[in-house]
Amino acid sequence: MSQNLSQALDYARNNHQRFLEELKELIRIPSVSTDPQSAAEMEKAAAWVADQLRALGVSEVAICPTARHPVVCGEYRCGLPAAPTLLVYGHYDVQPAEPLELWQSPPFEPTVRGEYLFGRGASDMKGQLLAGLKAIEAILRNNHLRVNLRFLIEGEEEIGSPSLKQFIEEYQHRLRADVALNLDSGIVAPDLPTITVSLRGLAYFELRLYGAAGDLHSGTFGGVVHNPAQVLCELIAGMHDRQGRVTLPGFYDRVRPLSQAEREDLARIPQDEAYFLKTTAAPALFGEEGYTPAERAGARPTLEVNGLYSGYIGEGSKTVLPAYAMAKISCRLVPDQDPNEVHEQLLAYLREHAPRTVRWEVVQWAGSPPAAIDPHRPEVAALQRAMEQVWGVKPAFKREGGSIPVVAQLKEILGMPTILSGFGLPDDNLHAPNERLHLPTWKRGIETLIRFFDNLGVTVGEGAPAE
Ligand SMILES: [Zn+2]
Repeated sequence: MSQNLSQALDYARNNHQRFLEELKELIRIPSVSTDPQSAAEMEKAAAWVADQLRALGVSEVAICPTARHPVVCGEYRCGLPAAPTLLVYGHYDVQPAEPLELWQSPPFEPTVRGEYLFGRGASDMKGQLLAGLKAIEAILRNNHLRVNLRFLIEGEEEIGSPSLKQFIEEYQHRLRADVALNLDSGIVAPDLPTITVSLRGLAYFELRLYGAAGDLHSGTFGGVVHNPAQVLCELIAGMHDRQGRVTLPGFYDRVRPLSQAEREDLARIPQDEAYFLKTTAAPALFGEEGYTPAERAGARPTLEVNGLYSGYIGEGSKTVLPAYAMAKISCRLVPDQDPNEVHEQLLAYLREHAPRTVRWEVVQWAGSPPAAIDPHRPEVAALQRAMEQVWGVKPAFKREGGSIPVVAQLKEILGMPTILSGFGLPDDNLHAPNERLHLPTWKRGIETLIRFFDNLGVTVGEGAPAE
């Protein structure tokens, strides 16, 4: 171990109690982004983060206004010509704390009990944000950082980042970097550090079917006029085959096949059949033949019916032949599928299969492309090695089934991939009462990030530090 690295690690150990006190300070600011009453608290939290960055020696720290809550930006230049640039992403907002009566200690009065710090935002993600900032502090107080940093700390993550797309477009000159580091994900178990290497995209549609001009008497017209509810059900039934595969024409053409090594990585995620049965209490699992539950949930595309409507759904009976039927249908997409292409595929399926007895239309609601990072990139390798150094095991490479707006937007607007990780645990009670942070894991997280920045400089940067 280099002397520089051991100094930074010693610094983090010696200052751990202060780091914890500073985290408590931030948690005491109730920065609930959805609450219209909390504008002043949001500004206070943004100012707190900006002060932290300034104390680190970050330059051009700015609290940039948006339509709603400000974004904190800043920049650190290490002075090495070939050094990589990392965009540190974070969010300072939190979910509402309600229902308050279920908290064992007040949500905005952070309290340590046993190995945990309890408080709203302790894990999601004030704790993770500080883990990153404190790792940077530990290095900068003792030595040079061999990477350039840029910061993007937003206040709207918990309400879906509505201002972020426009912000990234407007401020792209201040955000461009080789790769983003987002610590808002977590680890799958305390003994298994995790790097999330992909997120699924989304294509969301509404399918509307029209039959007769108005609802009809099913006794007078049933058997003569085709029922749109029946047609809708048949169309939906045809969207999967008996092996659980989606039948839209060309749906799998762009799906990257899983390599044996990727399948072995996914097999280490503790989410097997028993886990999904226990978590969901479903009578049995369903899915594409030939794939494990972890593969189906993260690495394979899906098509789901999210809502259905037709005819009479009130109490009792009404002998109606409905004039209209509607289904909300969404697809989760994996690299390299494209939401607009999936739209075309759905239209092609309907042109082929919808009978002439109904008229139909498709509305495309939301769409976001899938995002993935090459696990062999030097930045990912630097984090992997740091995790191995601290945990003594190879990290799990997870594929997340959902999507995260900022990750998709950085990819779409700036072409920037994101390293998604973090040190929150699955039972941290995110968004729920008694949110907590496992302090021993947090400490390991800070150490991991110190080593990550150290590895990163050595792996990617070239030349000696500018003394
Ligand atoms: Zn979060």
